[in-house]
Amino acid sequence: MSFSLVIHGGAGNITPAIMNKDQELNYHNGLSAALDAGTGVLKQGGTAVDAVVAAISCLEDNPIFNAGRGAVFTKKGVNEMDAAIMDGSNLAAGAIAGVRNIKNPIVLAREVMLHSGHVFLSGTGAGEFALNRGIEMAPDEYFFNKDRYDQWIEIRDSDFYQLDHKEDNLKGALPKTDHKFGTVGAAALDKFGNLAAGTSTGGMTNKRFGRIGDSPVIGSGTYANNRTCAISCTGHGEYFLRAVVAYDVSCLMEYKGLTLQEATRIVVKDKLVKMGGEGGLIALDAKGNFDFCFNSAGMYRGMRNSEGKDIVAYYGV
Ligand code: ASP
Repeated sequence: MSFSLVIHGGAGNITPAIMNKDQELNYHNGLSAALDAGTGVLKQGGTAVDAVVAAISCLEDNPIFNAGRGAVFTKKGVNEMDAAIMDGSNLAAGAIAGVRNIKNPIVLAREVMLHSGHVFLSGTGAGEFALNRGIEMAPDEYFFNKDRYDQWIEIRDSDFYQLDHKEDNLKGALPKTDHKFGTVGAAALDKFGNLAAGTSTGGMTNKRFGRIGDSPVIGSGTYANNRTCAISCTGHGEYFLRAVVAYDVSCLMEYKGLTLQEATRIVVKDKLVKMGGEGGLIALDAKGNFDFCFNSAGMYRGMRNSEGKDIVAYYGV
């Protein structure tokens, strides 16, 4: 049986104009390392769930992405992370929101799925569960990143909150942004024909009031079902939540018989655009067909499969 893996490192205003050669190389290396980690699991006969965790953990450990180590700062100057994972073979799911000091939030999401008896844990309760389960923690300094910090300092005294790669602030004119980071996600098809998807993020810079985006919400930012597809989204979460993006793609396939690409195009390039929602998604179906679909200028993305296909790309086509 064959296997496939798709990953993303965020979507937004990603154009050749904002990237120099060093940055391109950093993203290339970061995405390639995650593809190595995820396909390494799949090659050895590991499950789609474990491949998703391996790929996302690798991206979380890399400070150029807005997840795990590189998570953005909230209004209060701390890092609060969200993550989710779903197993398409049995529709099991695990998610966490607003967690702090968890080295790899995707590992905790898998732990919630497998050992909590629940689907979605938040804040201090999720932290308590992590401690009980012996999940690896990291001190605040581990999450400190100068670029991220400067990005937050620029808007912390305002009511603005900010998507990683967006030129314009979500409530007005944007102070200068670095455009260098992004939410991460992966979707995998394993040798047993099972799909899984996961997403991990620090959310939005200067977010407050315990704001949670689409990433950890099953059906919005993350969804997997062997009957249809596995999806991880990235973009302006408020819109992705309202559009129930990932499940909508799955529903169009299941109830209307659309192909993966037909379904993603309707949701991302039509429905979301009409609502004003910027971003994109990565997707795999149960036959190994894959898709990258975004309505923003670019999306950090990659794909590798057992047939030797190997892609890393950033910009729109
Ligand atoms: N979707 C994420 C959120 O709204 C942000 C991102 O994808 O970069 O929290």
